[in-house]
Amino acid sequence: MTYSKSGDGSRIQVIDAGKLNSYSFEVGPIRPPSEGGSHSLLLRVTRNCPWSRCRFCYGMIYNREKFELRSVEDVKKDIDTVRAMADEIKAISWKLGYGGEVNANVGTAIIQSDPRLNSNHCFIMVFNWLYLGAKTAFLQDANTLIMPTPQLLEVIRYLKEKFPSTERITSYARAKTLSKKSLEELKELREAGLSRLHVGLETGDDDLLRLVDKGVTSDEQVKAGKKAREAGFELSEYVMIDLGGRTRSEQHAKNTARVLNEIDPDFIRLRPLMLGPGLPLYEDYTQGTLELSSPHERLREVKTLVENLDVTGRICFDHFLNAWYQDKGHRHTLFKQDYNGYKLPEEKEELLTLIEEGLSLDESTHIHVKDMLGLTHL
Ligand code: SF4
Repeated sequence: MTYSKSGDGSRIQVIDAGKLNSYSFEVGPIRPPSEGGSHSLLLRVTRNCPWSRCRFCYGMIYNREKFELRSVEDVKKDIDTVRAMADEIKAISWKLGYGGEVNANVGTAIIQSDPRLNSNHCFIMVFNWLYLGAKTAFLQDANTLIMPTPQLLEVIRYLKEKFPSTERITSYARAKTLSKKSLEELKELREAGLSRLHVGLETGDDDLLRLVDKGVTSDEQVKAGKKAREAGFELSEYVMIDLGGRTRSEQHAKNTARVLNEIDPDFIRLRPLMLGPGLPLYEDYTQGTLELSSPHERLREVKTLVENLDVTGRICFDHFLNAWYQDKGHRHTLFKQDYNGYKLPEEKEELLTLIEEGLSLDESTHIHVKDMLGLTHL
């Protein structure tokens, strides 16, 4: 944590931030980039992924560790720890004369008082979260919705009770799990405060869903997405460009558009395929049964997807693997990589024009995903 303003030097001597170092709570390995952008509080409600079979992921991000539900009591203890940290930070703010406000000067004074806190990730997260108003929280790990609804409701209600400032609570959700929850349960969760769901659609093509062992059909994806929307959730659907490689590109793009058109999610977020050793899909690649697309082919896949979309939400390229090219030694992204992307249908033409511009650039100027990851053997 670095802040440019210096603290109130005359009062630094009176604070002792050491107590903050004694607090810790459990945090899982990942969250969607947009939650990072919002500095959401990360609360681990379950551990790892209950499926761990998708051949492009394999639960590797969770080290393929066993899925576990955490007990409500344990999660509540973590929320209590966050509350205690928040109270301590606010008390320091009062001592410094800032009336409980969590500002840059308070942060600087705390770090000066105990520099170890600069590498304490629980403290950094809670401080940044308070600094931005403590408005958003993300429930980890890969499929929080699998938790029995009464337990999940208890966690959400407790979080809201301890932090009434929380306006947005979000989570990953598998489409299969969503499709099995009743509309009434989803509405109850929504009313309790769970407000945004991140779903890994990847593709709407049934052949490809089977091939990558996603464990869901396109019909179930549609059912899940529509139900989430009907229950009032803000819905992000993640699409994996190049998942079917060169040979299945067209069916992947068209069937994905078909499913998205039926769901009409708030956000479509593109996450291009990346492979690495240990993934079953990487084995397919090394054995020659999966042919990765070239940068132009990937762009053409995006073009087919966009052309076939008939939705009213936004399409976003908020991941560093989305199309890059080089010009005079500088790297440029073809699309803006912010969390709001392009509104459809209003900005569809603009987007298609950008894609054409990308396709008009010599393919040698495009940066292949394998080069961005340093996987030049791909
Ligand atoms: S459900 Fe998600 S986290 Fe689990 S294996 Fe599939 S992509 Fe990975």
